[in-house]
Amino acid sequence: MRCRKCGEKAAINMRQHKLALCGTHFLEWIPEQTQRFIEKYKMFEEDSRILLAVSGGKDSLALWDVLHRLGYQTTGLYIDLGISDYSIQSQRMAEKFATENDLKLTLVDVAESEGATIPEASKLTERGKGKPCSVCGLTKRHIMNRVAREGGYDVLVTGHNLDDEAAVLFGNTINWAVGYLARQGPVLEEKADGLVRKAKPFCRFYERETAAYALLRGINYIYDECPYAEGATSIYYKELLNQMEEVRPGMKLSFYLSFLRAKKFGLFVQESTIAQSKLVNCSTCGQPTTAPDQCAYCRTWDKVRSRQAAA
Ligand code: SF4
Ligand SMILES: [Zn+2]
Ligand SMILES: [Zn+2]
Repeated sequence: MRCRKCGEKAAINMRQHKLALCGTHFLEWIPEQTQRFIEKYKMFEEDSRILLAVSGGKDSLALWDVLHRLGYQTTGLYIDLGISDYSIQSQRMAEKFATENDLKLTLVDVAESEGATIPEASKLTERGKGKPCSVCGLTKRHIMNRVAREGGYDVLVTGHNLDDEAAVLFGNTINWAVGYLARQGPVLEEKADGLVRKAKPFCRFYERETAAYALLRGINYIYDECPYAEGATSIYYKELLNQMEEVRPGMKLSFYLSFLRAKKFGLFVQESTIAQSKLVNCSTCGQPTTAPDQCAYCRTWDKVRSRQAAA
């Protein structure tokens, strides 16, 4: 297989685009495409202040690298969840990348700021039936929004790739979770006061493309998944989608793009308006919530702290 641009040996063949590229041209193609998506979906501007959620994995570090190469002003945010060795290793990767590229990284230690690690908090609440993912997701979303608001950032950016987005879409479609479908997309506008704008510049790249980019750029990232990811439904959906992709190259991309087109034509509009109109500000932290008084985050962590005190 030869590179379409220069005829050298191809490093990657992207069947869904009918495009093979050598290492050099692939490393140019990824930032070009990213810039195209940023503009197409109006994610942010040249001078926007960007907060980038960094997990230490390939997607977030590859995205940080691309945005930095494109000349954007970015600050990384790493949240230490206190998940044993996984958190230690991933933080090391995030710090290493920031230091090597002279980039600013903000660290938030959940145990220090909230009084317990995510696994400890999970044991003290009923959320998630013994799995910490529910408390974890809630906490990450809250902290990301808080740091973005307090730091005056224009947008919060995450490294979600097409495989992530297609798996979420698959799950939401199977369950006809119309409210979630209404909110899914490359950009989530800052609709309610206090909910920061979110964007996913890698949402149209396959996971194998972001992995190839990280590899060819020599980025060190944590290969291991979080130990709690094992057996997750999203992984099962990813496997199913990969099987379909194998038979019909481009299927994942067209699933996602057709969804975005349907949304643009007005599907789910009503649901989105209803969800938005129900938001009020939490009486404790002030962040927007659909709950009548305290948000789920404050309720959960108040419970954790009171049970810790009673133990
Ligand atoms: S898999 Fe790990 S990092 Fe992901 S939500 Fe669950 S506990 Fe958090
Ligand atoms: Zn080439
Ligand atoms: Zn709150």
